[in-house]
Amino acid sequence: MRVTDCLFCKIVAGEVPADKVFENDEVLAFHDIRPQAPVHVLLIPKKHIASAQDVTAEDAPLIGRLQAIVPEVAEKLGVAKQGYRLVTNIGWHGQQTVAHLHYHLVGGRQLAWPPG
Ligand code: 5GP
Repeated sequence: MRVTDCLFCKIVAGEVPADKVFENDEVLAFHDIRPQAPVHVLLIPKKHIASAQDVTAEDAPLIGRLQAIVPEVAEKLGVAKQGYRLVTNIGWHGQQTVAHLHYHLVGGRQLAWPPG
């Protein structure tokens, strides 16, 4: 289901341009517009799910298939060997700014832990 005022649903629909790195019928990965590292890609299900807090048992196979695409995307972007971070922000305290489930794949430099 598509949510009309959702930015990432608009990217899925092709109404907002994005620099895509992977796409199939249910998952899309594209470069973040404000990269925080040399590699910063967002992986999303095309289905509108507001956040990881909204994932249901019905969504589990889809989320599993999304997860299974991560190694392929990391390989393609050249970060698989050195490592990277996969993170999803949830809600207000999590500093989620786009309410469509997305996983940040960040890498290409040494990352700090813990995050701020
Ligand atoms: P969040 O803050 O919700 O965890 O992540 C949202 C991400 O979406 C941010 O890293 C932000 O830079 C990115 N973003 C916001 N608007 C756009 C856009 O129009 N295109 C792309 N490619 N990324 C966007």
